[in-house]
Amino acid sequence: MARDLRRPWQHTLLRLAVVLAAGMLVGLLIGQFWLGVTLALLAILVWHYVRLHRVLQRLHSRERLHLPDGRGIWSDLDALLFVRQREGVRRKRRLLGALRSFRQAAAALPDAVLVLDRRDLGIQWFNESAVRLLGLQPRQDIGVRFLNLVRAPRVHAWFESGAAEPLIDLPSPQGDGSRLSMRLLEYTPELYLLVARDVSKLLQLEQMRQDFVANVSHELRTPLTVLHGYLDMLDPEDVPEWGGLLLEMRRQSLRMTQVVEDLLTLSRLDACERLPEDPVDMRAMLRTLARDADGLSNGGHTIRVVDEAKCDLLGSSKELHSAFSNLVSNAIRYTPKGGEVRIALQSRSEGGVSLCVQDTGPGISADHLPRITERFYRVSNSRSRESGGTGLGLSIVKHVVQLHQGELQVESEVGKGSRFCVLFPPERVLDRDAEIDNPA
Ligand code: ADP
Repeated sequence: MARDLRRPWQHTLLRLAVVLAAGMLVGLLIGQFWLGVTLALLAILVWHYVRLHRVLQRLHSRERLHLPDGRGIWSDLDALLFVRQREGVRRKRRLLGALRSFRQAAAALPDAVLVLDRRDLGIQWFNESAVRLLGLQPRQDIGVRFLNLVRAPRVHAWFESGAAEPLIDLPSPQGDGSRLSMRLLEYTPELYLLVARDVSKLLQLEQMRQDFVANVSHELRTPLTVLHGYLDMLDPEDVPEWGGLLLEMRRQSLRMTQVVEDLLTLSRLDACERLPEDPVDMRAMLRTLARDADGLSNGGHTIRVVDEAKCDLLGSSKELHSAFSNLVSNAIRYTPKGGEVRIALQSRSEGGVSLCVQDTGPGISADHLPRITERFYRVSNSRSRESGGTGLGLSIVKHVVQLHQGELQVESEVGKGSRFCVLFPPERVLDRDAEIDNPA
């Protein structure tokens, strides 16, 4: 309803004038002019006081206001308060609607969503999927510390370490065989948002992919061995016009065999959760790597071995040799003749040791660096093939390093060379005087 709020004073002044005139008239009639005026002014004052009191009462009691009929400043104030109250109610309704639909959306999510207090990880709210995936009890578990309900040691360790990375492949606390992943988001300065997702199907698919690659590689191995055997039996000198052809067939079948072997190694590492933890004699390992490098280089490179750390490692001798020799073989293969390859075992100031393989080869540009450990990723296809690469070497290195809780660091500058370092944590370092049972 539209009201003219521009001229409220006119009505009020008119009223004042009428009351004052009436007072004057009464004063004149009773022969007490000033008494009449005073009574009129008092009446005006009382009336204003009553109106003000009514407004304050309405505001205090928070009662629902109505649009007033009258005119004047008090009616206009009532009208203004009515409009503000109506706007407030509408805004509240809109916000409640938005909150309700947000909660409905969160409740309908297939992922478990929980709001946790950041101080004590007390549960403030959770959706229906949290009941299904984590076994939480509606209402009963509100306010309970999350870690008192989900007691898996991995979840506790994850929270203790800061939960910066998602937690993957966690058995569901429901014990139904499903696997979960968890992610913790900093929602507000006071709250965390915890999202738990059922990843059983994804992990199943990943398992199928791994099995498929392993099976295909395994199936290819036998026919390749047969082919290779026959090709070896054929002497190019017997049929000179086929000489080049035979050599190329041998080269390609060797390459295929190497790809299959690398794929099988990767499948084995994929399926492996823990490697043997034996003392690894690093003096013997460095000697073997130097011999491998010499054999590959055939005198074409300067090879230096530095043993500064003078310590041994705890891990799988076989897998570590496979990882280190991949790095050494890359350094030799990609560094032109006359270059230098340096293999160094050094202590780290932060603790632990590093094994670095540095070369003076072509280097790798920064945009390729993040991807070089991906399977079959090559900076230059032709150069990798020419040098006999399978594109799987660095993936194997990465896997082996991860299984030793280490880290692979790569520094490279185009035209100057590359440095691949495997960093091992202090727990993997052994005093060299310790007894060695299995020299590499
Ligand atoms: P490949 O069998 O092709 O060498 P890798 O997984 O061992 O596969 O390496 C991936 C890619 O990284 C290689 O194709 C090559 O382009 C690059 N690379 C690896 N090591 C070096 C190196 N020492 N110098 C230059 N490039 C390298």
